[in-house]
Amino acid sequence: MYWDKEMECMPREKLEELKLRRIKETVFRVYAFVPSYREKMDTAGVKPQDIQTLEDIQYLPFTTKQDLRDNYPFGLFAVPMSEVVRIQSSSGTTGKPTVAGYTRRDILTWSELVARALTCAGASRHSIVQVAYGYGLFTGGLGAHYGAERIGASVIPSSGGNTQRQVMLMQDFGTTHLACTPSYALFIYDVMRSMNISPEDLKLRAGIFGAEPWTENMRSEIETKLRISAHDIYGMTELIGPGVAIDCSCKEGLHIWEDHFVPEIIDPDTGKVLPPGSEGELVITTITKEAFPLIRYRTRDLTSLNYEPCKCGRTHVRMKKVKGRSDDMIIVRGVNVFPSMVESILLRVPGVEPHYLLIVERDGTLDELEILVEVSEKVFSDEVRKLEELNKLIRKELESGLGIAVKVRLVEPGSIERSEGKAKRVVDKRNL
Ligand code: ADP
Ligand code: ZN
Repeated sequence: MYWDKEMECMPREKLEELKLRRIKETVFRVYAFVPSYREKMDTAGVKPQDIQTLEDIQYLPFTTKQDLRDNYPFGLFAVPMSEVVRIQSSSGTTGKPTVAGYTRRDILTWSELVARALTCAGASRHSIVQVAYGYGLFTGGLGAHYGAERIGASVIPSSGGNTQRQVMLMQDFGTTHLACTPSYALFIYDVMRSMNISPEDLKLRAGIFGAEPWTENMRSEIETKLRISAHDIYGMTELIGPGVAIDCSCKEGLHIWEDHFVPEIIDPDTGKVLPPGSEGELVITTITKEAFPLIRYRTRDLTSLNYEPCKCGRTHVRMKKVKGRSDDMIIVRGVNVFPSMVESILLRVPGVEPHYLLIVERDGTLDELEILVEVSEKVFSDEVRKLEELNKLIRKELESGLGIAVKVRLVEPGSIERSEGKAKRVVDKRNL
């Protein structure tokens, strides 16, 4: 099932032509209307007419989060404010928030992309879609909402929070599709169990989960517990919101909608473009956005691209599940540690719950990594000796997987703070 077969399954050759045409047009537009782009291109000695092939975009300067800060709030918009019909922004956990503007057409584009994503997850006009992403400035809620309405589904705009009510709505309204962060999906499951409701009591069939990194192990955990098909949806405020990429039913990578976004993978240290298949930082150029086009935006997300044809028939490139953000990575005694590595190791151990927290401290000059791990009720009530054995096993697994010594603390189920939005996985107390 496709939402827009012509676009989603367009032969690559045609798709490349379309991309090139749209890139050229975007570059001309930002050069003409956004002073900051013009200055950067002038400094780099590139003119819009220098872009003649898709490869030529590597001569364009990158855009970074710093450029967004320097031009806060609307400096990178390419249309007058009278054309802007919506403003969204990121949470802004690190300083000023990231601001995105949309024209009327941008909102339509965004809805189309989320419609494609929802269709990949099996939703249709007959579905009941519960949107438990936060509504408001955060793009998750409204993004999913407009896409679900676009396909004609019945939308329940429950927003994040009030988890018992989420469960009640799911049961009473017969929700078939749930959109929220993967960590919140698991939290909803816990609350559901505590209300003595089981997945069989619901009509839930699939979930559209994203906004934070999660592993394949976490996917199986969610699929088994909730008895649904769990799809990974990727996006970010700067690029448009959710719906930049999604995995199809093959679940072997997320299709990036290349008729709107042109991806590249670069070495985050040198900025050099890496050949297809290499792992590195995802860089995206938006090629249809009117209000807030971005040229070669450094997402900080680490992944790789696969141009092989997909069994589903869609021709658009697939990105691997995001491993984490280059800025989420912690360096402990010189070793790079991603929360996702810890997660995939932990979830291989029976009795371990997918809730964990990495705490890094510096004792004198030495970094200490402590990992809090929730275990199931059953395990937690076992005898002390058994818990100690499990602790040892987990520590061994983590130490061989990560390559550094760690401390492990097994904690009671429910004791690590839950989030209704993005999960917090790292506490860095080192003041670096
Ligand atoms: P904020 O940074 O304020 O949370 P966003 O909501 O725009 O703002 O977050 C975008 C970031 O969320 C992405 O750059 C990426 O790191 C992460 N993200 C979004 N979707 C996914 C996903 N499916 N898998 C992994 N990470 C994701
Ligand atoms: Zn596919």
